[in-house]
Amino acid sequence: MNSEQFQQAVLTWFDQYGRKDLPWQHPITPYRVWLSEVMLQQTQVSTVIPYFERFVATFPTVHQLAEAELDQVLHLWTGLGYYARARNLHKAARQLVEQRDGEFPDTLEAMESLPGVGRSTAGAILSIAQGVPTPILDGNVKRVLARYRAIEGWPGRSAVLKQLWQLSEHYTPQHRCADYTQAMMDLGATLCRRGKPDCQRCPLRSDCIALAQGNPQDYPGSKPKKELPKRQCRMLLLRDPRGRVLLRQRPPTGIWGGLWSFPQFDELQPWEPWLLEHCQQHADPQPLSPLVHTFSHFQLRIEPLLIEGVELDDRRVAEASECWYDLESPPQLGLAAPVERLLQQLPR
Ligand code: SF4
Repeated sequence: MNSEQFQQAVLTWFDQYGRKDLPWQHPITPYRVWLSEVMLQQTQVSTVIPYFERFVATFPTVHQLAEAELDQVLHLWTGLGYYARARNLHKAARQLVEQRDGEFPDTLEAMESLPGVGRSTAGAILSIAQGVPTPILDGNVKRVLARYRAIEGWPGRSAVLKQLWQLSEHYTPQHRCADYTQAMMDLGATLCRRGKPDCQRCPLRSDCIALAQGNPQDYPGSKPKKELPKRQCRMLLLRDPRGRVLLRQRPPTGIWGGLWSFPQFDELQPWEPWLLEHCQQHADPQPLSPLVHTFSHFQLRIEPLLIEGVELDDRRVAEASECWYDLESPPQLGLAAPVERLLQQLPR
């Protein structure tokens, strides 16, 4: 197939089978496409839909997102993971409002200058919401193109990525680019699936090299395996006599940046003196079941310790960016995933 035939096959398939009722398609605006694209990074559509709906109900416009407190944004993101995405959304919304009165740019270069917007996300906003023909290369499109042309190697390697971008540029049409872009994402998500591709229903099957070879699942190549380093920490669940739990806001950057967590110590850090003193005098820590949380670059084993009946000076709590979290009427805070799990396990 030449590129026109490829585009025609994909668009004809889209007209009949493409997804046309996703929440961010009604209506299609740069703001909504941007939100959905950021949420969909490393996350499945079915997981994203309720988050997207809550998010746009709370912040229907980029202006409302820019005016929000970061805590409120992180609260709505709780459970979706990769929190840098939420912090960047908030930062980019403020940048758009301050510099462009909330208007999205119409060039790739300007779009890519927004925090958290890479080339593929920028391409998706431009082509889907603004009708500017721009290639994309998200996980779905990578998989379709790598299989269709049997591109060897892991797309994390720059030489492989470059080849895939060239293919994406080659096939992106000048007309109906919005439908084409959506169609390629849909093909990857619904037919050219990671696990079991449904090649019999695929509009590209007559020309797909991986299918002809009989090994679509070997593409794209996987990341070379490396065992994740392991770390350990203790999390202290301090409850006051009313049953509230002490949370502490984490620094704005780094792991769980800006989210609320429990006071945490790793093997090398001594306990804070006020805490040590308190525990020695008033309470015995009760160990709870450990849990393991996997980040992209390490695995964290968390040993939770519950300490009841803790009374603290309110001024110290406020100065340390801490708060008492009431389980009966929880405040709207962004919580790290294991923190949320541990809070749910506590008796009310
Ligand atoms: S024929 Fe199969 S492997 Fe090839 S692009 Fe279509 S679904 Fe993917």
